[in-house]
Amino acid sequence: MTASLSLPSYYQATANRKISTTPLMGDVKADVCVIGAGYTGLSAALELAQAGFKVVVLEAEAIGFGASGRNGGQICTGFSSGQGKIEAQLGKADAKRAFGLAEEAKQLIVDRAAKHKIDCDIRWGYLHCIPKAHQFNHLQEWHDEYEALGYGGNTLLTKDELEQKLGTTIYHGALRESHAGHMHPLNYCLGLADAAIKAGAVIHEHSRVIEVSTGSSPWARTDKGKVSAKFMIIGGNAYLGNLVKPLEGHVMPVASYIIATEPLGEDRAKALIADNEAVANTNFIVDYYRRSADHRMLFGGRASYSGRTPAALGEYMRPRMTSVFPQLKDVKIDYAWGGNIAITSNRIPDCGRLSPTVYYAHGYSGQGVALAGMYGKLMAEAVRGQAERFDLLAKIKHLPFPGGKLRTPLLVAAMAYYRIRDALS
Ligand SMILES: Cc1cc2nc3c(=O)[nH]c(=O)nc-3n(C[C@H](O)[C@H](O)[C@H](O)COP(=O)(O)OP(=O)(O)OC[C@H]3O[C@@H](n4cnc5c(N)ncnc54)[C@H](O)[C@@H]3O)c2cc1C
Repeated sequence: MTASLSLPSYYQATANRKISTTPLMGDVKADVCVIGAGYTGLSAALELAQAGFKVVVLEAEAIGFGASGRNGGQICTGFSSGQGKIEAQLGKADAKRAFGLAEEAKQLIVDRAAKHKIDCDIRWGYLHCIPKAHQFNHLQEWHDEYEALGYGGNTLLTKDELEQKLGTTIYHGALRESHAGHMHPLNYCLGLADAAIKAGAVIHEHSRVIEVSTGSSPWARTDKGKVSAKFMIIGGNAYLGNLVKPLEGHVMPVASYIIATEPLGEDRAKALIADNEAVANTNFIVDYYRRSADHRMLFGGRASYSGRTPAALGEYMRPRMTSVFPQLKDVKIDYAWGGNIAITSNRIPDCGRLSPTVYYAHGYSGQGVALAGMYGKLMAEAVRGQAERFDLLAKIKHLPFPGGKLRTPLLVAAMAYYRIRDALS
């Protein structure tokens, strides 16, 4: 078994293309310098290269090394914060426009996969399952909120109906979405990179930016070179560290873990999730899972705010999986890995400008598979002089996380609180 925070092993083992690039050497000039080759950076790079801009992407490790190559693959609706927090800041009409952008984010995946022939195994259907019977009211409200937003195709499932679809009896019902789903996240990311390169973008892997200037003539320096550009797009998300001083405290990295069982065979996999939907429970500390194309169970969850990596990740995660599917207690776990999610204090993504030519977007708070690509696209629109949609989202305010020594202990305490809240609610 492989257990590592830095090896998204199952996705790597099933990656359907290999892209190799060279590190940045020497000084180059570009129209746009992009930091980070995840969905955010690659989406912006693709749009801008297609529009004729000279784009250079600097990636510290490899394409998809960050969350984009190691996530649960769940294509979600809306924002992690829920619509209410967006309405409180933007008002109903603009919040509805923001929801529309999140809807467009899902379609963007479909369109790009079709246009650029990205084989990433997209599947539709999403079950949000309630651990407690009294939470059914919450599902009804959720359903009605979606209807009011003009987002249809959702059904409420009773406990009995859900048990026809899932091989577990632990839930008390679900909201089923037809227009959310799952995919192979690394293959989508590699496909985006391939499309960006074909459109003319230059990607340099193993080119960690160690110093930036984010004024009106931005530049980024690695240990072997420097990119000077008219525009800069920062897409380092949870992996950015303290590189960009003004962004410190905007997001908090939170580790989340996933295991992949051995292949179970189609019949056994279908007995767990009959219709191949993505599944999550409605807890704050969420379990999320799905079947893979080769009939494994991919089971994720167990956020860790303390930054520690559990020693035997597979065995750490197995009890979560068997609490849902006791029938998997003896299966082999072939892969286990983790990655960092960037959360914001209000769980709404954070985007903005550091100067008139330097843009950033991050903090999708566990819901960036679709959103990150959209924020990348909106930054590209802004660079091209159409900033209206970007500015709608950039208006949203965020409280910074406390800095210094207090930061981690406060988040660990917050997690303990949410664990208790999940247990009692
Ligand atoms: C385990 C896990 C499960 C998740 N599950 C889901 C899910 O099921 N559904 C969902 O919607 N979202 C999920 N997410 C979140 C989602 O994956 C992210 O929101 C999304 O991938 C963010 O994309 P990004 O491009 O902004 O960041 P990333 O993909 O993290 O990319 C950032 C890149 O920037 C690079 N970088 C950082 N600093 C530098 C530097 N100094 N110089 C050069 N490069 C740098 C990094 O190496 C990295 O490759 C999950 C995340 C994790 C970790």
